[in-house]
Amino acid sequence: MKERTLAQNKNEFDGQEISQQIAMHVKEILRLLGEDPEREGLRETPMRVAKALLEITHGLRMEKPTMKIFDIAEKDGKYSENQLIILRDISLRSLCEHHLLPIIGKVHVAYIVGSSGKVAGLSKIIRLVDYYASRPQLQERLTEEIAEAIMNSDIKPKGVFVAVYGVHMCTYLRGVKDETSRLLTMAYKGEFETNAELRNSVIKILNLNKKENLL
Ligand SMILES: [Zn+2]
Repeated sequence: MKERTLAQNKNEFDGQEISQQIAMHVKEILRLLGEDPEREGLRETPMRVAKALLEITHGLRMEKPTMKIFDIAEKDGKYSENQLIILRDISLRSLCEHHLLPIIGKVHVAYIVGSSGKVAGLSKIIRLVDYYASRPQLQERLTEEIAEAIMNSDIKPKGVFVAVYGVHMCTYLRGVKDETSRLLTMAYKGEFETNAELRNSVIKILNLNKKENLL
């Protein structure tokens, strides 16, 4: 396992101390940019930025959420194995790891109930997305990590499909300054890998060929 940093170690984590250290650097960045960090409007800014950064990257310092599981088996033991479950439009808030600028968008998760008849609590899937998104990320990796985590969870689904639609502020605000491009990434596991018809039907249900109005 990777060595945990100071900020990742719960016992040593002192929010106030770390906020102050980050704020000190933000103040210096403002100065280097040609601003006067002491002027009225900027005086509280370094601390606000520090707190915002800690909040946006909180996934780095939290335990990976465990998947709350429900049994959909009925009393007589029958259950809907093979049921298709889709959780769409989960809000995506992340930070691109190349520029530390926001990525916002939507995450859609679909899975097929396995032979155990177990399903995941909806809020747990949302928490899992938040866990992987709340850190410097690549959208491609995020998509894969979410799919992998659900596939390997105790619900043991037959397949998982994850699609992420993102607007990257680093391409919107700088570089090519493209305001209209959207990045769509998809990851498939299990039956979604082998069954193109199934995959395409979910793409159709989610209307992924249509441009999302994210901004
Ligand atoms: Zn970027």
